[in-house]
Amino acid sequence: MNIQTSKSDRTYDAIVIGSGITGGWAAKEFADKGINTLVLERGRDVEHQKDYPTASKPPWELEYRGAVSAKRKAEYSYVGKFARAENVHFRLKDGEQPIVTEKPFRWVRGYHVGGKSLLWARKTQRWSEFDFEGPARDGYAVDWPIRYKDLEPWYDHVEKFIGVVGNRDNLDILPDSIVQPAFELSHIEKHFQSEIMRQYKDRHVISSRMAHLTDPQQIHKDQGRYRCMHQKMCNRGCVFGGYFSSNASTLPWAAKTGNMTLRPHSVVHSIIYDEQKGKATGVRVIDANTHEMIEYYARVIFLNASTFNSNAILLNSTSARFPNGLGNDSGVLGKYVAWHNTRARVTGWHKGFKDKKTLGKTPGGTYIPRFRNVHKQDTDFLRGYSVTIHSSRDLEADKNVIGSELTENILNPHLGDWEIRMLMTGETIPIEENHVRLHEEKTDKYGIPQIVFSCDWQENDMKQLADFHQQCGEMLDKAGFADFKATDSGRPPGSDVHEMGGVRMGRSEKTSILNEWNQVHQCKNVFVTDGSCMTSTGTQNPSLTFMALTARAANYAVEEMKRQNL
Ligand SMILES: Cc1cc2nc3c(=O)[nH]c(=O)nc-3n(C[C@H](O)[C@H](O)[C@H](O)COP(=O)(O)OP(=O)(O)OC[C@H]3O[C@@H](n4cnc5c(N)ncnc54)[C@H](O)[C@@H]3O)c2cc1C
Repeated sequence: MNIQTSKSDRTYDAIVIGSGITGGWAAKEFADKGINTLVLERGRDVEHQKDYPTASKPPWELEYRGAVSAKRKAEYSYVGKFARAENVHFRLKDGEQPIVTEKPFRWVRGYHVGGKSLLWARKTQRWSEFDFEGPARDGYAVDWPIRYKDLEPWYDHVEKFIGVVGNRDNLDILPDSIVQPAFELSHIEKHFQSEIMRQYKDRHVISSRMAHLTDPQQIHKDQGRYRCMHQKMCNRGCVFGGYFSSNASTLPWAAKTGNMTLRPHSVVHSIIYDEQKGKATGVRVIDANTHEMIEYYARVIFLNASTFNSNAILLNSTSARFPNGLGNDSGVLGKYVAWHNTRARVTGWHKGFKDKKTLGKTPGGTYIPRFRNVHKQDTDFLRGYSVTIHSSRDLEADKNVIGSELTENILNPHLGDWEIRMLMTGETIPIEENHVRLHEEKTDKYGIPQIVFSCDWQENDMKQLADFHQQCGEMLDKAGFADFKATDSGRPPGSDVHEMGGVRMGRSEKTSILNEWNQVHQCKNVFVTDGSCMTSTGTQNPSLTFMALTARAANYAVEEMKRQNL
């Protein structure tokens, strides 16, 4: 690798740390505005289309039909039984970043250009006023320094560019997105929808809003993206660009402007703070191949390394002015982390509609926005949960027989009962005890301190879970399902892949790290716009909000640069 040496060669207008969902957005906004931008990414490059080795391949074209050999599995022991050849190459290899779990925690990572935008399930819902007002209403966590109206134009801006499918549902709890035609619901979903909406005034069963293209507009064609082909092989990378990923969308867009330089294999160690200037001047990077430390400089730094990495980078950015981490006079950095509670599931089976089946595949599904504690506190737990619904009618064959009967059954499977799976996305409450910090002695192979996770479920989460089981069972019963099963996976926090907080936004620098523009209160040229900035978690899939916050903050930073304030 050609490592530049002169300081001016290593100086940019803006540095973006991380090239995933939020880093891609920061890069695009800066590049569009003519800002000379360096994007630093710890992982390898993944070029759209070229670097999706398993995309569109049927199982018989994959070695072992997609199963992973024991030798390969051993390299990904962290992924464990979930390792599949389809996309194991987008998962974290053992040894790359060991962590210390004081309490059980599962941290899903994707370290390559594009980050988790190649792994995500693409569900995209806006936050509502109820979500931004939540902490102020019940007093848990601090008040958000912004409200829905502050973010609304940025949701519009992001949605137009990424493409979102769905309907305009006209709900106060889930503001409408700018949408393309929704994926069609299956027969059982349509039945469930009409029964629930007939029998409940406060519950809405809607088509999932997702970052896919069903009617590509010129802005999507300009990105080189096409209509979703319903292959349902999204987590291998989509050669059509049928769903939004940084690789298919924001990064190539930014590159085309000529204003973005992308540097893979660049592990950011810390942010450099200049005591004289009273601001950050750049970042320290460890080259992942040579382990050499290099410094890069810029007027503005955007931290988009994903929630826990952004916490860790700030905690590791110590100086005489900030001995406890950049911008951490308050001591709240790393604290009040939260996530979503996705432990609960209720599955129901319907004996009817034997003459109906769904043709083809759909990446979509159905969604019930939060209905608990919306207009008033009506349960003994705080906040609420949303419900993600998938349905199927699978081929079945009785395999509890032997000989020719078994052969006959396998050769002539029949369609089984309709099945609906209801999955919980519960809001967890950020508390001080749930935190991450840096280990005092243990480091990774780059010499960077390991992250200590100290996070646990609370009584509130268990009450939500019990209520989810009860309410979903009741809904299935009312919709004529003959049978249902409620389960609790009992899995540790983090498994839900929606981690947030630790660098939260707030009105006061005594209780938060970031102001209303995602600027570090005490170091204004550092912005943090990934999930770590979240003051509370809502019940929506979070990445659309991360993107909108990022676009808003990047445009503000550009204006501040023009005004010479940064
Ligand atoms: C299986 C799965 C399903 C999901 N489904 C959904 C969904 O349906 N809807 C939704 O809203 N969200 C979903 N998510 C969550 C979503 O992927 C994340 O919210 C989103 O990717 C966060 O964006 P980010 O930019 O903060 O982080 P990422 O996309 O993870 O990008 C961070 C990037 O920073 C890089 N990086 C990290 N540390 C450093 C460092 N020190 N130096 C340089 N680079 C660094 C990483 O390599 C990575 O490329 C899902 C996640 C998973 C895993």
